[in-house]
Amino acid sequence: MQIPGIIDPIPTPRDITPREDGRVDLIGLPKQRITELFEAAGLDPKAAKLRAKQVFHWLYHRGVMDFEAMTDIAKTMRPWLGTRFVIGRPEIVLSQHSSDGTRKWLLKTADGHEFEMVFIPDADRGTLCVSSQVGCTLNCRFCHTGTMRLVRNLTPGEIVGQVMLARDALGEWPRAGQADLSALGDDLVDDEGGYSADGRLLTNIVMMGMGEPLYNFDNVRDALKLVMDGDGLALSKRRITLSTSGVVPMMARAGEEIGVNLAVSLHAVSKDVRDEIVPINRKYGLEELLQACADYPGLSNARRITFEYVMLKDKNDSDQDARELVRLIKQYKLPAKVNLIPFNPWPGAIYECSSPERIRRFSEIVFEAGISAPVRTPRGRDIDAACGQLKTAAQKMSRAELDRLADEKQAALG
Ligand code: SAH
Ligand code: SF4
Repeated sequence: MQIPGIIDPIPTPRDITPREDGRVDLIGLPKQRITELFEAAGLDPKAAKLRAKQVFHWLYHRGVMDFEAMTDIAKTMRPWLGTRFVIGRPEIVLSQHSSDGTRKWLLKTADGHEFEMVFIPDADRGTLCVSSQVGCTLNCRFCHTGTMRLVRNLTPGEIVGQVMLARDALGEWPRAGQADLSALGDDLVDDEGGYSADGRLLTNIVMMGMGEPLYNFDNVRDALKLVMDGDGLALSKRRITLSTSGVVPMMARAGEEIGVNLAVSLHAVSKDVRDEIVPINRKYGLEELLQACADYPGLSNARRITFEYVMLKDKNDSDQDARELVRLIKQYKLPAKVNLIPFNPWPGAIYECSSPERIRRFSEIVFEAGISAPVRTPRGRDIDAACGQLKTAAQKMSRAELDRLADEKQAALG
């Protein structure tokens, strides 16, 4: 993949890297690519197309991990597939369950890089927080992931693989014989604001895990296409949110080529403060960023931009900051809501979280101006669920501790 020149160059592996035994992992590949691989492996074009369609459905819609389970494929054909291809998942290094229901996984790529995924159940939805990179090249001062050296972009397979792993863990693949509700269309399957009509736990996806998704644009787009494909994971684009720290040149393309909801990590309303806490602001300033928000394709009162705003004591949390936030949103005529995020401290962080009273007052000022500004409840604090924290916590654990946790996990499952 070529990253456009204006974007910081980041090493990206090729989309197809065969395993050591020569087999190719199909997860992350679109139907067309699977067709091409089947043809290259000797099937005639018509057979390749038909098999790719069947395999695609089994992989992404039904979540099977074994070619033998693909019952509409001839018995003799299944070993042919099994000797050439594999159905991969990221490896689970550690999984933790918080007392508030939040679940967090430390995952590992086939070449040994660790990254995180978090599942947050709420009364009316279940949100999976997905990573786009191992580490992050940006260095937001309050973010723990920002302190890690970026190792690499995640591939489409590693990104969509997180959603698939979550469905595995939650036991949420449609079973044979079960009515296929995705065929009923978006409105029935994804009634906005409530659990999906088929009673699934995993209803929403946010690209808010480790990394900056717009610095890994092609892979994030290709993965989300598989998530949104009606014959794939079949999640509505209205239930997917991509969060960016403000990679302005890629925002229009995100709207046009992916079309999901946009969240922007604003965090400050003046150049000085944003330059300090979100350093990409020095490259793409506030005016440019807010104009790109105003130009984001598909915005309306029903589809608002979310501004994320982490509450940092005496840094960005004054009444004046709140009023300036309102002024900017109105100046750019943005259909927007604001998510106020209490800062989640980590060892070595130089900031503190604003007091609950301060956060409440900030929220009121924005709310009184007619803009929704809920305070996000911190979740999973007992399991270091904030971005980047589990990876570091695990790195500090001894091998013996990790083994013990893995045993406990096995015991809990069994
Ligand atoms: N890189 C993207 C997406 C990942 S970060 C972005 O910056 O938008 C997801 C969100 O978590 C961002 O809004 C980020 O600012 C927030 N975040 C990071 N560290 C945090 C912390 N310690 N406490 C609270 N929020 C944090
Ligand atoms: Fe990267 Fe987002 Fe963290 Fe900033 S907040 S360092 S962009 S992951």
